[in-house]
Amino acid sequence: MAKRDYYDILGVAKGADADEIKKAYRKMAIKYHPDKNQGDKAAEEKFKEAAEAYEVLSNADKRQRYDQFGHAANAHSANGGGYGGGGMNMDDIFSQFGDIFGGGSPFEGFFGGGRQSGGGARRVKGSNLRIKVRLTLEEIANGAEKKIKVNKQILCNTCDGTGAKDRSSFQTCKTCGGSGAVRRVTNTILGQMQTTSTCPTCNGEGSTILSKCTVCHGDGVVRGEETISINIPAGVSEGMQLSMSGKGNAAPRGGVPGDLIILIEEIPHETLKRDGNNVIYDLHVNFVDAALGTSVEVPTIDGKVKIKIDPGTQGGKILRLKSKGVPEVNSYHRGDQLIHINIWTPKALSHEERELLEKLQSSPNFKPNPGKNEKSFFERMKEYFE
Ligand SMILES: [Zn+2]
Ligand SMILES: [Zn+2]
Repeated sequence: MAKRDYYDILGVAKGADADEIKKAYRKMAIKYHPDKNQGDKAAEEKFKEAAEAYEVLSNADKRQRYDQFGHAANAHSANGGGYGGGGMNMDDIFSQFGDIFGGGSPFEGFFGGGRQSGGGARRVKGSNLRIKVRLTLEEIANGAEKKIKVNKQILCNTCDGTGAKDRSSFQTCKTCGGSGAVRRVTNTILGQMQTTSTCPTCNGEGSTILSKCTVCHGDGVVRGEETISINIPAGVSEGMQLSMSGKGNAAPRGGVPGDLIILIEEIPHETLKRDGNNVIYDLHVNFVDAALGTSVEVPTIDGKVKIKIDPGTQGGKILRLKSKGVPEVNSYHRGDQLIHINIWTPKALSHEERELLEKLQSSPNFKPNPGKNEKSFFERMKEYFE
């Protein structure tokens, strides 16, 4: 099968810089990640293809050779890294991720943190589990601890997850002598090569079970429930995914449990609207209060706050309550609350109200006269987005 062009695979131009390549690859890795596309062979191929393209294009030397010679360039290099032939293996791909997704984020471990590299007795990894958590704006602003009952594979109590009826049910694997691996010697042009692979008899476990546990039928896991307490950091937002390693499905016979992936959903607030780290509130003030000045209570994430409306306040003014917004994840910085002032004009008037207003209508002060000090709509918008 002819190989696709590495630039095409990542969807970048030939002249793309290192940053663009990294970004493009990150996008592909997330889209085709096996945790997200379980059992989807086509996605897995795309995932591997992208990893291979990135492996070459992210390395200045390899990229230069590829630009000059195409796919042939790297396939025959002495320490070719393996991508020339059958593509990269999953462990190599995951070991690359530290530098792609960066450390120190609260979402560390989202990508295959618990994967082990090959060799020795292979342990099976439990599958990842996905749940949704719905949060109010207050919970997002303050962080939250959620206790959630999760339906999942748990270790079988009867056999302690071993899958065996009792201790004497285990027998050391005759094929591999308990090491879980078998060696094979093959003749190649370069001479004899020794390869090690997982023992096919025991699947790398090193022992076989003579009589199985009657509760889990040898699986070591059963269907059950676990209440998991999840610490959600302040500042998360809709669509973010958190991961708790080891809290997913238990793995059969002493394997590593999968991860619990938590998808964040926001419950819309009744009166406050979130805009990134800021919170927006629409305040309606009638034109008499705007002219005379008043004080009003406005809701904030931390409860009600009294604010002053100056005499002569114009519609469209934006008041800022510093640090009353949503914190940034992993930072002390907190956004602001912005209060948009809308001037309310009565829609219906009684006979007396109409008479009073008619007296004012021709008063010279009621003629709109925006001075030089009045901010334009454009200026207010600019101020808001600062
Ligand atoms: Zn059991
Ligand atoms: Zn074996």
